[in-house]
Amino acid sequence: MNLKLLNEPKELRIHQHLNSRMELSEKEIQQYRNLEKGYEGEVVFSELLEPLGENGTLLFDLLLEQNQTLFQIDASLLLNNEVYLFEVKNYCGDFYMDGEILRTISGNEVKSPIIQVKRSESLMRRLLSDMGGSAVKLHYYIVFVNPEFTLYQAPPSLKAIFPTQINRFIGKLKSQPAQISTKQEKLAEKLMERHIDNSPYRRLPEYDYGKLGKGVVCLGRGSLETVINHRNQVKCIKCGKTENHDESILRSIDEYMLLFPNELVTTSTILDWCSIFSIKAIRRVLNKYFTVVRSGKPTTYKKD
Ligand SMILES: [Zn+2]
Repeated sequence: MNLKLLNEPKELRIHQHLNSRMELSEKEIQQYRNLEKGYEGEVVFSELLEPLGENGTLLFDLLLEQNQTLFQIDASLLLNNEVYLFEVKNYCGDFYMDGEILRTISGNEVKSPIIQVKRSESLMRRLLSDMGGSAVKLHYYIVFVNPEFTLYQAPPSLKAIFPTQINRFIGKLKSQPAQISTKQEKLAEKLMERHIDNSPYRRLPEYDYGKLGKGVVCLGRGSLETVINHRNQVKCIKCGKTENHDESILRSIDEYMLLFPNELVTTSTILDWCSIFSIKAIRRVLNKYFTVVRSGKPTTYKKD
């Protein structure tokens, strides 16, 4: 059972949109690439884990709190009264271990996943015990998913799964006879209840409405050079990609709501945001797919 699906993180989506509508600094672009790479790694691993969801419970991207400390778990698997937690890393290239620190071969320190995992493991242990689940066996692994990753000087005792071991590791878990017990279901539900949806730790570039480019972002490479063609579709001048008229408007509204969650959605705000559509088209889409919160001047809308 896949109880909590993997979703593209908000932080990554915001970076994507901002990258299309403003000039990001080098540091911000680096952060954007890191988020993208991290998410790609999680997608790869989630697909590998998927078959284990048949007899176990999968939960992706849990954000939990224990002792006023937040910790995030990329992937969790509940199987036969055991809990497997995975920290997924998509590092590429050659690294070496220097105590508990990971360094690139040129000596640069990377944020140590070992220290991170140890901290999360102890928080999770306490959380499970608070929830009355202390009897479950807890395992925590760092999974390096990129086949181009090498780690020198790693001791065999390191709780890591390397690219060459992932398939065997999953195969071993799959070969265990398993079924979902009521106890396991309850534990999964409790973890879901404790999941925090809005991470306060987002690192976002600074942005304001006035400085962002207006228009519709192309689905291809994120260009803002889109127009409406004679078939009433949105077409990118750069790559030629076309998109259905209403879908473009809906996607642009979603983008606006994600970037400006505290702003009201009205016909005129969306008209300005998308810029290539007529006021009639925007009003029609809002009335068709959204709910009127307050009618009048101006009418404000919300998503169902
Ligand atoms: Zn394009």
